[in-house]
Order: sequence, then C-alpha cells, then structure tokens
Amino acid sequence: MTAGTLKVAPSLRLSRRSQAARGQAISFLMQQAVENPQVISLAAGLVDPATLPIPETHAAVERILGDPAAARMALQYGTTEGSERLRRLLCRYVARLEGATPETCGLSPDRLLVTTGSQQMLSLVCEVLLDPGDICLVAGPSYFVFLGTLEGVGAEAVSVPTDAEGLDTDRLEETLAALDAVGRLERVKLIYVVSDFDNPAGLSLSTERRHALVEIARRWSRSHRIYILEDAAYRELRYDGPVHPSIWGCDDSGGEWVIYTQTFSKTFSPGLRVGFGIVPPVLHKALCARKGNEDFGSANFNQHLLANVLESELYAAHVEQVCAAYRIKRDAMLEAAEEHFAGIPGVSWVRPHGGLYVWMSLPETVQTGFDSPLFREAVHQQGVIYVPGELCFAGPVEERPRQHMRLSFGVQTPEGIREGMQRLARAVKRVLQVHG
Ligand code: PMP
Repeated sequence: MTAGTLKVAPSLRLSRRSQAARGQAISFLMQQAVENPQVISLAAGLVDPATLPIPETHAAVERILGDPAAARMALQYGTTEGSERLRRLLCRYVARLEGATPETCGLSPDRLLVTTGSQQMLSLVCEVLLDPGDICLVAGPSYFVFLGTLEGVGAEAVSVPTDAEGLDTDRLEETLAALDAVGRLERVKLIYVVSDFDNPAGLSLSTERRHALVEIARRWSRSHRIYILEDAAYRELRYDGPVHPSIWGCDDSGGEWVIYTQTFSKTFSPGLRVGFGIVPPVLHKALCARKGNEDFGSANFNQHLLANVLESELYAAHVEQVCAAYRIKRDAMLEAAEEHFAGIPGVSWVRPHGGLYVWMSLPETVQTGFDSPLFREAVHQQGVIYVPGELCFAGPVEERPRQHMRLSFGVQTPEGIREGMQRLARAVKRVLQVHG
C-alpha cells in the first residue's frame, strides 16, 4: 500500500430515492417462513402450486421452438412497449372481459404496454406521475406492496375508508374536500383501487361506485388530471357473485381518466412475469420512455409464450380449472372460520366472492402486528403465520387500525387451511383468554 492510500473504507452514499425505499415487510414474512418450516403459512400470497400450468407451458414452448422462425423471433430482443402480437391478443382478451369487441370499446395495441408483472406497471406509473410529496388516495386497507412503492418515490398515501362495496366514494369526496380546504388538492395525482376481490380485504367495488369514481376523478381534476389507477390483478379469479365492468370500461371518455393494469400471475404463472397496462394516450410515451430506461422491454420469450397460450383454447380452460381449485380452498377457509372462530366474541370476517384472501377482524383490544403477543403466539407456539393488517394501511403506525389479519388460501391444501385456521383460533383464544 502506498503512502496516502485511504485505510478507512469509503462510506456508502445511496441516492435519496433509494433511501426512501424501505425494505418490504414481505421479506420479513418470508424469512419467518424459512426459519420456521413447521409453520403453516396463511400469509404467502403465492399462487396454488398444484394448478401451475405445466402441460400448457410445455405445449406453448414446443410450438415456439418447433418453428425456427418463431423461435428466432422469441429469442431475439423485443420492443419496449411489448410484442405487437401479444398486444393485439390482449385487446381482444380485455374486450371480451368487458363483454365487447376491441373496436366497440376503443381499444388498440398502441394503448397497451406489456410489463414485467403488473408490479412494474404500478411502479412505472408512480415514477412517471409522482414527485416527492405528491398524494395518492388509497383504500384503507390497501395492497401493502403498492404502499411501499409509493413510499419509494416519496409520495404520500392517504387512506379512504371502505365498506362492503369497497372504497367508499362519499368518503373519497370528503377526503378530497378536506385536502382542498388545506390547499393540498394540488398534490393529489392518483386514486389507486384494486377493483375486484381486492388484496387484502377481498372486496369488490360495486358497479355504481365504479361510475362514481370516474365522475369524481373528472370533477376534482381542476388544475391537473387526477388519474384512477385500476389494479385488476384478481379480476378473473371469480368464484361466485356479480360480474362488474372494469372502472376503465365505465369511463365513457374512452379511458382518459383510468390507467388499467392486469396480470397473468394469478390465472397462469407468476414466474413468467407478464403483466400489462392500458393507458391514456397522453401517458403512453412517458411510460415507455421510463420503461426504456429500465429494461427496453420485458422478457420477449415469455410474451411469445403467453401469446401462444392466449391463441389456443388452453388459457380459458386453465382459468376455469384454477378458479375451481380456489373455490374449494376459499370454502375450506370460510368453513374453518365458522367452525373455529364463530364462538369468539368480537371476531368477524369478510366472505370474498373471489381472489385469494379472507380479511379477519379481531376485537380492537387485540393487536396483530409483528411485535404483538398474538403474532408471537401464532408463529412460535401454534405454528401458523398471517399478514398483520396494519401493514395494509397508510399513515403513522400508531394511528392505523391494528386488529386485522389477512389470511390467504392460495398456497395451502384444504387440509392445510383447516389445520392453519384451527391453530390460529387457538392463538387468538390464548391471547383473549377465551377457553374452548
Ligand atoms: N396487484 C395486486 C393487488 C397484487 O396482489 C399483486 C401480487 N401480489 C400484484 C399487483 C402484482 O403482481 P405481479 O407483479 O405478479 O403481476
């Protein structure tokens, strides 16, 4: 070492943006699961391993690799906005969900952007629209990973209460009026909604409220546009109950106010990481430019694979199979809740018509957070893990509701769900000192 060489390691100076990105709570939950393998996880949001589409994927890969021209195209770079063939198919696919054709709902491939899971779409929207200090209105409770994404760009999430019909649009108006009264309407840029069978509460927005939302976004967009970010991740995981048009479909301006995102993670395979967005034309260029900085295109091979699957009859049949399996699991969880929790005073839960989650509420005196007696009892004594509800609310932890749990029926078998629910009920009874 020559004289004058530094002996002390130079300090790390992360960017401000990266300092804002906190570690996602999901990492802690996964660590708990790895360190305690005997624990039954009702926390993981993973999809059902038994219904992952092995034969369908095999057939699609064979079709691509069996045709040298198709194989070369799929193994080459693609474009930033995604494969044109896939975007055309996606237009037809979304139009079918709306009960329309691409022409009647004004959908063309240039409105679409294929992304690496819908998470990338959510993140790109935040990057493109939100400056530090800008506000995104979210349902309380809301998808906790998205709350982390907002935090990562320095934006503020403001919670709007929900009821059985999802985000309460009257309370949304009140929140906007309150922000306006203190001169903060200027900072409101987005309203984020998981429209069907949401994560975490399993609620769907009524059709009436979907229309109301578009009208509210329009009316409150005074000096700038307030966009609705519609996350339709669970749209096709429907087991019973009413079918709703998307919020995007309720926007009769042709989707000027709604950024729609969907994913094939839940109905097909999260490992492929294929999601997409339908975006207002004025945003398309900015989103593509931002995505160009990140990856100039999501995995091209996977897009071609999915295009093959969508072209064949295999996709619809697979979704049916997946929904049938989840319906059985949902019922197993609800029956187990009835059997083990119905007798515990002050406990209630939502009966979801789709999705992967049951939202359970305990008496207000019981906290469910990582450092609560209930969490410790559940994980270390009874061997079951859940997602603490407080992760799903915006604002300071002390001010959030702290007595909820998100329970997932995605990964466990029906037997695992029943055992997990019995263990959880035991933990709750221990903490509440209820006998029986
Ligand atoms: N939105 C919601 C509501 C979700 O629950 C998830 C996955 N947990 C996503 C988006 C992102 O999924 P992906 O990136 O796999 O498409």
